Amino acid sequence: MQVTVLGTGIMGAGVAGSLLRAGHTVTVWNRDTAKAKPLRDAGAKIAGSPAEAVNGAEAVMTVLFDTDAVMGVMTQALDSLDESAIWVQLSTIGLDGSARTAELARQHDVSLVEAMMLGTKAPAENGELVLLVGGDPALVDRLSPIFEAISARVVNTGDRVGPATALKLAANAWVGSLTALIGQSMALTKSLGLDPQLFLDAIKGGGTDTPYAHVKGKSILAGEYPPSFPVEGILKDLALIRTAAEEAGVADDVLAAVEGRFLTASELGHRSDDMAAVYTAFLPKS
Ligand code: NAP
Repeated sequence: MQVTVLGTGIMGAGVAGSLLRAGHTVTVWNRDTAKAKPLRDAGAKIAGSPAEAVNGAEAVMTVLFDTDAVMGVMTQALDSLDESAIWVQLSTIGLDGSARTAELARQHDVSLVEAMMLGTKAPAENGELVLLVGGDPALVDRLSPIFEAISARVVNTGDRVGPATALKLAANAWVGSLTALIGQSMALTKSLGLDPQLFLDAIKGGGTDTPYAHVKGKSILAGEYPPSFPVEGILKDLALIRTAAEEAGVADDVLAAVEGRFLTASELGHRSDDMAAVYTAFLPKS
């Protein structure tokens, strides 16, 4: 298929690479062109503007940071879309953002499908994301070659835009909280005088173990936080999750505490680092 990827950050670059490997014709655009250029070697066409990028595309994928980025970039692109093109929205933008994209698509008479990404840098690069998909089943069907290229599994959330975003918020409440809990237990282990590796050894193979603890634990043990999902990303999502929780009447005090630890990690200089750096926010102040 002719596919355009708008946004080649951590996730967009991985998604575009997986599409190219599967044989799709891919055009990419990124605000900072330097980040798009490495994809040229893999066979992508680099466009100079969002409008140029979407020319002739059968599917246009937005993989951008937040609602403002998605609305701003698509506002520049929508008038250049082919009549039959499908806008596939992958960015995590919350319930209000999702409603705003649906309204923008409606105003421009453009078909919109949501495909929320579960998984991070490596699954995006390896075509092994889990996608939470919502939209008209006929459109979703047309997109199946794309979804096959970038995902290991698709979870269908129904025939409209919105529920996939809702499920993504619940999933990221889990991921953000879990990362904070891993950081908390490793900081406790260390600060109680033990090697934090022992925490990972203790949970290994048991009922509460998760492969994720060992991935993030390795980063914590090394004290190295190359970003798969940066602290600023989970802070953006926790704000969206807390708004949704408040609207739904769900208690958000645990989320508030988790957010507080990520804010501290950010203040400690880890805003652009991987969220495993939340560990540092649990350590005693020196
Ligand atoms: P990222 O590496 O920070 O990339 C963000 C992208 O958005 C870049 O292309 C950036 O362009 C662009 N951007 C930001 N503000 C913009 C603006 N005002 N106008 C135009 N472009 C703008 O983030 P990412 O990790 O790829 O995440 C992309 C989306 O996927 C986010 O919604 C994130 O929450 C979601 N997500 C991330 C993960 C993960 O593990 N990383 C997993 C699932 C979902 P520049 O390069 O020019 O700054």
